Amino acid sequence: MTPRPLPKTVAPLPDELLSGWLSRLAAANYCDDAELLAHIEIDTTHGASLDFNVDAAAAEKISDAARTNPDIVRSLTFPTMTPAEALLTARVPFQSCPECSRRGLLLRHWRRAWAFDCQVCGTRLVQTLGKPRGEQISEKLVNRARRGAGMLECAAQLSSPKQLRRAMRAVTFAMSLVTFRGEPLFALQSHRQEVRLFCLAAIAAARSRPLVKAAIVSSDIDDYARVALLRTFEKEQRLLAAVDHIAQRRARSIGPMAVESHY
Ligand SMILES: [Zn+2]
Repeated sequence: MTPRPLPKTVAPLPDELLSGWLSRLAAANYCDDAELLAHIEIDTTHGASLDFNVDAAAAEKISDAARTNPDIVRSLTFPTMTPAEALLTARVPFQSCPECSRRGLLLRHWRRAWAFDCQVCGTRLVQTLGKPRGEQISEKLVNRARRGAGMLECAAQLSSPKQLRRAMRAVTFAMSLVTFRGEPLFALQSHRQEVRLFCLAAIAAARSRPLVKAAIVSSDIDDYARVALLRTFEKEQRLLAAVDHIAQRRARSIGPMAVESHY
């Protein structure tokens, strides 16, 4: 038995994510997301994963309830991704557009680690769970981060292992600057605005003089970051030696106290 069609339906918008459209559908019918999924007879524990994979039966149930067709339901999920795109696409929301969110939208491109400005209205995306800490973020950092995001997008879309490796290496350095513990991929999806901005900015900075950049950072880091750095260069002994050499020369010439971030 198929569930009864919902009294009201809403048309999906370009780039809208299935979970976002379901939320709007629920709101239009005066219920919440869980009640809507229960009505359609879809296991609510699978709510979030529906964005990545909706099986034929579920697509059928949703399309019947919303009076649309299963192909449209499926078009709201992520298409098949390359391994690089998959790595750089968040499983759960981590940023959103303040303007479009107010209209109840949840868009697909916001999940990409490289998304920086909203493609619909141009507003800069903000961290979903991040608390505004009242600190002033410099325009220079924002612009550099935007450039880094563009480079990350390029690397992901070209699936270029070399560019991706270079970007992740830059992120590892930035993590040591903002004392972020964990994987570079999580740093890019961090709910702390300054972490994400520093990491993206580092991608842009590393492009011009990666070794000098590495050296500057490595001369001012703790043991944890040092280990991360060694791991980054594990298979590139020659590069690691070069970084160490520059760091030592720099430390000798300016003294340890003078080392600072130049973001
Ligand atoms: Zn927007």
